[in-house]
Amino acid sequence: MSRLYVVSGPSGVGKSTVVARLLQQRPDIWLSVSATTRSPRPGEQHGREYFFVSPEEFAALGHAGELLEWASFAGNSYGTPRGPVQEHLAAGQSVLLEIELEGARQVRAAMPEAVLVFLAPPSPEELKRRLVGRGTEDDAAVAARLARADAELAAVDEFDHVVRNVDIDVAAAELGALIE
Ligand code: ADP
Ligand code: 5GP
Repeated sequence: MSRLYVVSGPSGVGKSTVVARLLQQRPDIWLSVSATTRSPRPGEQHGREYFFVSPEEFAALGHAGELLEWASFAGNSYGTPRGPVQEHLAAGQSVLLEIELEGARQVRAAMPEAVLVFLAPPSPEELKRRLVGRGTEDDAAVAARLARADAELAAVDEFDHVVRNVDIDVAAAELGALIE
């Protein structure tokens, strides 16, 4: 049966890394591409990592009812385009969303049958090390992301499953085992 899966967890925990590793082994899983108002990082491509849109375009998507869920995060807006998710589910594929906590809560409310997975860091110190070590944000943006991390870590009990990202391959295998 095709199902909707959500992977969430604090910024820098390794969501993108673990999901990318999983998708190398599981081409049967379709990863949703979100819309965001943040600027592309070096190497990110429009339509691949994200649809990079202006704040006006993002608002228009929301008003048109085209977002399954959306949230503000560290100064930008992020949302899941509804149509492609429904199309892939209707085609019988497992669909994966990689989104933050507020969005995960909206998915839970709208689609209670969705499976929510929390990716947890080995420790708060290691989370900070990974976020800073990624080197993609300036100090203010790192601070904004870490400020959200406490609330995200406190919400772990709202999730159906917890995967600890100590080793990338182990975490990808554990996530994969949860996805039909
Ligand atoms: P997120 O998508 O959750 O914001 P990323 O996937 O961008 O996080 O990972 C943040 C940083 O941590 C990256 O530099 C990545 O290479 C690194 N990382 C991810 N998983 C691990 C791991 N298991 N051990 C060590 N470093 C990791
Ligand atoms: P980043 O800027 O690091 O790519 O993403 C910042 C945060 O936004 C991450 O926690 C990521 O999972 C989350 N995110 C990405 N796309 C979406 C989305 O469509 N909806 C929501 N709610 N969060 C998203």
